[in-house]
Amino acid sequence: MSVATEVRTKYEAVIGLEVHVQLLTQSKLFCSCSTRFGDPPNSNVCPVCLGLPGALPVLNRDAVTMAMKAAMALNCAINTRSRFARKNYFYPDLPKGYQISQYDEPLSQDGWIEIEANGARRRIGITRVHLEEDAGKSLHEGFPDSERKSYIDLNRSGVPLIEIVSEPDLRTSEESYDYLTRLKTLMLYLEVSNCNMEEGSLRCDANVSVRHAGASEFGTKTEVKNLNSFRFLQKALEYEIERQIEIVESGGTIEQETRLWDSREQRTYGMRSKEFAHDYRYFPEPDLLPLIITEDWKDEVRRSLPELPEARRQRFISEYALPEYDAAQLTASKILANYFEEVAKASGEPKLAANWVLSELLYLLKEANKEITDSPVSAASLAELLALLSKGTVSGKMAKEILAEMFRAGKRAAEVMSAQGLEQINDAEKIAAMVREIMAGNPKQVEQYRKGKTATLGWFVGQVMKATRGQANPQLVQDVLKRELG
Ligand code: ADP
Ligand code: ZN
Ligand code: MG
Repeated sequence: MSVATEVRTKYEAVIGLEVHVQLLTQSKLFCSCSTRFGDPPNSNVCPVCLGLPGALPVLNRDAVTMAMKAAMALNCAINTRSRFARKNYFYPDLPKGYQISQYDEPLSQDGWIEIEANGARRRIGITRVHLEEDAGKSLHEGFPDSERKSYIDLNRSGVPLIEIVSEPDLRTSEESYDYLTRLKTLMLYLEVSNCNMEEGSLRCDANVSVRHAGASEFGTKTEVKNLNSFRFLQKALEYEIERQIEIVESGGTIEQETRLWDSREQRTYGMRSKEFAHDYRYFPEPDLLPLIITEDWKDEVRRSLPELPEARRQRFISEYALPEYDAAQLTASKILANYFEEVAKASGEPKLAANWVLSELLYLLKEANKEITDSPVSAASLAELLALLSKGTVSGKMAKEILAEMFRAGKRAAEVMSAQGLEQINDAEKIAAMVREIMAGNPKQVEQYRKGKTATLGWFVGQVMKATRGQANPQLVQDVLKRELG
């Protein structure tokens, strides 16, 4: 599918995302069962999360605290009083026949997050952040249908989720990608979720509509589900925007419906239309009291918030005099930012630390297909190397080689250097002897220099460096050469 650019520019897309984030609590939202991922099926279950008659839910305080952290970081107002509600529907992995969620009295609302679009910063509204429980998981196997078996694992039933609903403020697939990336970074900084998309800890549904550029009314939206990677989100939005433009261009109307992204076919297809839309018959959960959040609790949570990505980016610029771009790169991941800061502090060389972490270290990690958490070179170890480099004990070229070997063998700089005889040559006598030898072998160049062609000095430096495999201290080589040649 492809819409001509002149047609495309007549339209504007309107996008709002609904993101589910699994919270990193030890136990489930309404019972004490473990939330651990990957345990044997149906091993972390009890009467509450199995939906057995008469079992009563008890709210997990840690889940509320984590949800508050997320809501505060998204600049939402926390409601003193909120309420849980039953969302009724039938599904095999929903044993109670309803999900406990929040409806007209959510935990928090009216926030915003800043994204970057075409080099400019822009606020995207957050409609609400509320708490709800996850459903179990259905697993299907066998083909064709007559051979098909379905299994149900209720370990996930009752695991706490927050749902973060955005205002319809996003306009392009790139903005949506950036929004989701920033949301994820924020959750990782807060340590409220591991945001592992493969394990379903971060899930995103996209609402999208199109309208004529400049129009003030929104068009009819479709909701795209099944977007289990950032790339799929972007692709599905691009596909869906073009699909809707084609329909409107040819005089049709958009049907409000739920669609699924098919990553193999690279397209969305209709799942259910609004005609068959669920009526969830929400009503207040009678087994739980309203959730009351005191000012003390709010203050306590607010005080526990860590430094967030934006504040950290600005601090890196002011405290370490880093370029904007470096600061943004380093703070895009909390683990990377921590690593950099440790190197910067231990080496006393923040700029050098930023350069080496962003270029050499990330390159080595990428080559080895490793994450920074598995780096064979610790921050302390990299700091030692950078201290040697800044003192001039090793040259930049040598430091690169040493780092590669530290990375490969998991050794510290000093070990690599003594094993390979890689120390920089700082012995003026040794260098002078070498210089005299090179001068003796190249009388023509010596004469040129003495007749005033001082550029020849560079050639001599090169010869000495070559003879020492780059190990001679370049400044010392220059000094000795000038003395011997002069
Ligand atoms: P629904 O009643 O279908 O649940 P909501 O108004 O609650 O719709 O909005 C759900 C999500 O859809 C929100 O993220 C919102 O920003 C987004 N949204 C609402 N209207 C539109 C629209 N016309 N186009 C794109 N997204 C929209
Ligand atoms: Zn349980
Ligand atoms: Mg809604």
